[in-house]
Amino acid sequence: MSILVFIETENKAIKKNAQEAIAYAKAVANAQGGEVTALVMGDIDPSEAEKAGNFGASRVLHAADSKLEHDNSMAYASILAEVIQQESSELIILAKSGLADAVAARAAAKLKAGIVSGVTALPSFDGDGLTVQRSIFTGKAFSDTRITSKIKILVVNKNTIEVTPTTDTAVVETFSPTLNDKDFKATVQDTEKATGDILLTDADIIVSGGRGMKGPEHWQPLLELASALGAATGCSKPVSDLDWRPHHEHIGQTGIKVAPNLYIACGISGAIQHLAGVNGSKCIVVINKDPEAPFFKAADYGIVGDVFEILPKLTEAIKNR
Ligand SMILES: Cc1cc2nc3c(=O)[nH]c(=O)nc-3n(C[C@H](O)[C@H](O)[C@H](O)COP(=O)(O)OP(=O)(O)OC[C@H]3O[C@@H](n4cnc5c(N)ncnc54)[C@H](O)[C@@H]3O)c2cc1C
Repeated sequence: MSILVFIETENKAIKKNAQEAIAYAKAVANAQGGEVTALVMGDIDPSEAEKAGNFGASRVLHAADSKLEHDNSMAYASILAEVIQQESSELIILAKSGLADAVAARAAAKLKAGIVSGVTALPSFDGDGLTVQRSIFTGKAFSDTRITSKIKILVVNKNTIEVTPTTDTAVVETFSPTLNDKDFKATVQDTEKATGDILLTDADIIVSGGRGMKGPEHWQPLLELASALGAATGCSKPVSDLDWRPHHEHIGQTGIKVAPNLYIACGISGAIQHLAGVNGSKCIVVINKDPEAPFFKAADYGIVGDVFEILPKLTEAIKNR
């Protein structure tokens, strides 16, 4: 089976979510036979592109053109569709993101391919089709979806597969893609990066605060725990609405959906709209002074108590380890 992975980059290197997409493709190749090829657009260091081999790709096709440096879902979809046809790829894997969903949907429409987004497990194959589990209703349920088209596209959720890097490297082939002016009708004028060292969507650990933190001037204990853990910081919607924290930290149904290994919720009640953004987390720790707070029902570990007493103790314990 010929498997193609669309990989996203950041700072001229392979994005963390793309590493998972390559590992997912490799797991399918190991089970079904076949090779994994990665497709990358725009600016990437050749030494970084080779690292796609660490996660299971044997080749990297690098579409090099300065016009592709800014994310452009229309141009990326056209190039992806062209490469799928050239490579006779049967299975296409993308790591879930806003860009990946737009690129995958457009490429699927161009090629009449079946597409499943929000994939949460490896697929099973039968005859011409595959069946795969996906997350539905903002993570509240799962559905088994079958597609039978010749070309099949899967957009895979974070934390679907464990990544175990090797020292293998991939062969990088650079090519000049066919660019069509109609794909560049919308141009990026300016980009503003979210502040903070660790992006929420990439974070392994997130420490998040709600209205129980009482106000922006009381955020220091939460920031200190995040710093001790090397974690990103997040918040509930009212907290960003009140300008206690920046809007890019807002987690939930109407904010960012996260799937870290560890999510620590401090003074957040656990409303269904907040849970919709965190239920992909592997382990949830809830700190709340109200033992009846709904978040405890979704928690792996719960601490009933005052955040302002518990956070400094947790930070001290982490620092002592
Ligand atoms: C259409 C719609 C979309 C929404 N989208 C989102 C979304 O994307 N994300 C989101 O977060 N919300 C969203 N909401 C809002 C959501 O319904 C809740 O109102 C919100 O999540 C509550 O935020 P909170 O838990 O910070 O505040 P509160 O509900 O006020 O809870 C504060 C919690 O802190 C605890 N607490 C207080 N003091 C302390 C202390 N000293 N120590 C420990 N615990 C303490 C309290 O017991 C309480 O449980 C949405 C709502 C609607 C209607």
